[in-house]
Amino acid sequence: MGQKTLTFKLPTDFSEDDLRLKIKRELQLTTFNFHLNNKSLDARNKNNIHWLVCVVVVSDELKEIDSAENEPLSIITKKRKNKIIVVGNGPAGFFAAYALQLAGFDTTMIERGSEVEKRDLAISRFESGLGFDPMNNYAFGEGGAGTFSDGKLTSRSKHISAERQFILESYIKAGAPAEIAYLAHPHLGTDNLKKIVKNLRDFFIQAGGEMHFETMLEDIDLQSGKRINLKTSKGDLDCDALFIAPGHSAFETYRMLMRHGVPFRTKNFALGSRMEHPQELINMAQWGKKSLPGVKAAEYRLTSEADGNHQVYSFCMCPGGMVVPATAYANNNIVNGMSHYQRDGKYANAACVAGISPDVLAGKPVTPYEALAEVERLESLFYNITIDYEAPACSIADFISGKLRNHSLSSSYPLGLSIAPLWELLPNQVSQSIRTGLIDFKKKMHGFENGILLGLESKTSSSIQVIREKTGETTGFENLYIVGEGSGYAGGIISSAADGLKAALAYIKKN
Ligand SMILES: Cc1cc2nc3c(=O)[nH]c(=O)nc-3n(C[C@H](O)[C@H](O)[C@H](O)COP(=O)(O)OP(=O)(O)OC[C@H]3O[C@@H](n4cnc5c(N)ncnc54)[C@H](O)[C@@H]3O)c2cc1C
Repeated sequence: MGQKTLTFKLPTDFSEDDLRLKIKRELQLTTFNFHLNNKSLDARNKNNIHWLVCVVVVSDELKEIDSAENEPLSIITKKRKNKIIVVGNGPAGFFAAYALQLAGFDTTMIERGSEVEKRDLAISRFESGLGFDPMNNYAFGEGGAGTFSDGKLTSRSKHISAERQFILESYIKAGAPAEIAYLAHPHLGTDNLKKIVKNLRDFFIQAGGEMHFETMLEDIDLQSGKRINLKTSKGDLDCDALFIAPGHSAFETYRMLMRHGVPFRTKNFALGSRMEHPQELINMAQWGKKSLPGVKAAEYRLTSEADGNHQVYSFCMCPGGMVVPATAYANNNIVNGMSHYQRDGKYANAACVAGISPDVLAGKPVTPYEALAEVERLESLFYNITIDYEAPACSIADFISGKLRNHSLSSSYPLGLSIAPLWELLPNQVSQSIRTGLIDFKKKMHGFENGILLGLESKTSSSIQVIREKTGETTGFENLYIVGEGSGYAGGIISSAADGLKAALAYIKKN
């Protein structure tokens, strides 16, 4: 049995039969099987937009094997004695706990929010103006921050191919479309994510794990060489090893860890607002047409170095999606984006942020504690100038000109907009860089200035980072692992999940 890898250029609405015929003709085969290895849209030439499809063909008529598949990740299951607690049910916490439980440890997960079904109701209530729930929102609750999201599964992290494969296979087993294994830009959508998160919970429990919701880690007792004691909102717990995957919104958890001397440092992060355009405008700009058969909605990725100080870039683009009120705490304004699997909403949104260091932001060297306070100050400023959770907003053209016109702006944001000079609310250095970036983007994308900017984007990455060893273990604290986006070493669903998984594998190897 031989195997050959081939790449074809195919029309956007190609069928499986078209592909089969191409393979048959190209390799002159009568019987064969194939699977897709990669599928990416090439839209560089608007007159010739096509898929580039890479297939692996297997047949008795082929003599050679031209490429080896990746080594899958192996977790050896055996009876192990240690008791492990994992805090936080986002991608990092879940995959750490799942691997530890599969390896045979007695693993318990605790999560401050509720099961995804109850969390879903809390978010709907918030978006209907019926009140914010500090335990269940876009940041907190089962599945973590990325559950009510676009579910993009792209990641630029290197050296995680075995982890990525394990994560994607687990998602597919839990109901994700099989295409995520080969698409260059895979995404799940909130509708799929809600089901996947619930099914993953069932897998973990079936493997013998314990899962406690509405249970918040409040304090820890970390004495070297001893069992770790935890104070939670539901009582005390203890364990041999503690994995904390709190995400980067869990400021009170960070502060509690800092009080116990857990070492953190500041790091560069990004600030800005979310931009939103009609999806048709983006389709026209990227494809030269309003729609393209076989492709859901056009994406974009913009970067600008024009400012010379701070790079400005688009981030977490959600085609056909919605801008959402993503604050984790009451009386703050933070926005983010989500979409459903079909990406068929009227609007396209993406963060538009400038990379900055906490020291530059504060105008003096700051401690991790102070860096958090600076971010919080902005989140509360953006909240205080509007009523309830309306998002302050202006047109991109007004941001560029620095003159606010009182025209009506349309948006998918569910809680209303309040016209405001965003360039005055953002820190001066960030505003200036974003203005230069927007002028650059206007040259790169036709009609770009007809979009709007809204709210504060302060959570594209963490402004602080725990100091830890290569294994993920916190420096100076045996058996304490801080993983995922909250550790400051990962960002996004896949890299956070892989970070949790890698730390769990290191612990398994050690024990
Ligand atoms: C609206 C939105 C859209 C996004 N879209 C995408 C996307 O399309 N693609 C992508 O790659 N990334 C996206 N992200 C980012 C992505 O969600 C995060 O990078 C990822 O979820 C981080 O995973 P994590 O497990 O490290 O942390 P989180 O997912 O933040 O999970 C942390 C969990 O810990 C819990 N927790 C915190 N403190 C405590 C405590 N003290 N006790 C108990 N539990 C606690 C929280 O409730 C939460 O469930 C999006 C984020 C948001 C908010």
